[in-house]
Amino acid sequence: MANGTIDASKLTTTLTTTPKTIPALDKLSFGKNFTDHMLLIRYNEETGWQAPEIKPYGPLEIDPAAFVLNYSVEAFEGMKAFRSADGTINLFRPEKNMQRLSTSSQRIMLPEFDHEQLLQCIKELVKVDERFVPNEYGYSLYIRPNFIGTEPNLNLQYSREALLYVYLSPVGPYFPRTVRLLANSKEARAWPGGVGNYKLGGNYAPAMRPAMEAVKEGFDQILWLLGDDLYITEVGTMNFFIFWDNEDGDRELVTAPLDGVILPGVTRDSLLELARKWGEFKVSERRVTMPEMIKALEEGRLVEAFGAGTACVVCSIEDVSYEGKVYKIPVDPNNPKAVFGPLAKRLHAELLDIQYGRVASPWLVPV
Ligand SMILES: *Cc1c(COP(=O)(O)O)cnc(C)c1O
Repeated sequence: MANGTIDASKLTTTLTTTPKTIPALDKLSFGKNFTDHMLLIRYNEETGWQAPEIKPYGPLEIDPAAFVLNYSVEAFEGMKAFRSADGTINLFRPEKNMQRLSTSSQRIMLPEFDHEQLLQCIKELVKVDERFVPNEYGYSLYIRPNFIGTEPNLNLQYSREALLYVYLSPVGPYFPRTVRLLANSKEARAWPGGVGNYKLGGNYAPAMRPAMEAVKEGFDQILWLLGDDLYITEVGTMNFFIFWDNEDGDRELVTAPLDGVILPGVTRDSLLELARKWGEFKVSERRVTMPEMIKALEEGRLVEAFGAGTACVVCSIEDVSYEGKVYKIPVDPNNPKAVFGPLAKRLHAELLDIQYGRVASPWLVPV
């Protein structure tokens, strides 16, 4: 159905006449500060992909009857640009985000696009707003691509017009601390045959009420349990990892498999690859249930548990409440004040070393 594709060589740039002041690093709060420019690429089934434009950041004009506003035809991504000590700016495994945006958007009948060409346009946008990429270790420029159906048409077929746009937000380091989870088996974020494995806006609105109810009770995030066997799927909007001595007595790092209810996180994939490269313990993608985790805790076999995602990289879990009972999760037995377990800390440090260019890695792509 797509005619032509995105052509980065046709990109035009209109610079702002009112540049913003760079926000002070200590004043950054996640996703509230935006840069001077945005990237817009329009699609129309008749004419295909139009020339990409970089324009001053500002409101979009959208028809009230647009598909996105009625039927939630929206896919998004989250990735980051990092500045190395030598000043160069790099993206972390960006082709993974291009691939996932493509997979997500095709699930909701948005058109295919050329991944390389979109990435080229995103790099141009980051270059134009280069002064917003913080030069402090731990800080970065968050990149948010949104892809929406814009055809004004109430007929439930598919959107024949679309807009792919990208904007940027300088972000601070995630303040490292352990999180307290409320296990939820009553509501589901995702289910077999559903769309939990795609990054679609429609997955997030229904998760907000359970999440806010948990926050009101003093928890940070939800531990999503699925089905009668209480399969542990994800933590809030992070992938879940458990590090334990399994029933066979093997030290093992486990995360849920990509079985259709798990969001295929780039961080998840990266941590699995790092741990497999070390070769120091078993690394598995398989289902773990809440009763299995409780049994391991009671038998003293559970070493650590953590969430993983682009925003915080890794986030150690302090306790999980389930049916009124609080299950304490070990963080670091040698340091009662630790904000990371030893494994979480090591993975966090290795990934940041790669992202900030302190060690060479094919995962780092220069802007
Ligand atoms: C984005 C997201 C993740 C993490 O993915 P990353 O690519 O590692 O940032 C995990 N779970 C959900 C539900 C997500 O939306």
